[in-house]
Amino acid sequence: MWGSRTDRGDDTVTCISCGEDVPRRNAREYDKYGNRWERTGKEFEFLCKPCYRAECHQPRDELESLLCEIDGAEMTQEEFLETYDRLVEERYGTSEQS
Ligand SMILES: [Zn+2]
Repeated sequence: MWGSRTDRGDDTVTCISCGEDVPRRNAREYDKYGNRWERTGKEFEFLCKPCYRAECHQPRDELESLLCEIDGAEMTQEEFLETYDRLVEERYGTSEQS
């Protein structure tokens, strides 16, 4: 038995895809910079297992290079997302496929 201590606080991470709080040990690290071995000064993001699996089903060859391009500048998450959105739109049109 591991005891009844609840895993809250530091041990819980939020999935960046669905927003679910999951125990960190059940989450997968997702490095938006596509460079997991450079850890200094970085905060990793996390995906829960279902989202991680879903993520892997997506074609993402271009996504990684796109993300690495954005990496050129230091920016906040908000700026990053805006930049990402803009680049995707420039390249592929709007992100909605209708
Ligand atoms: Zn999730």
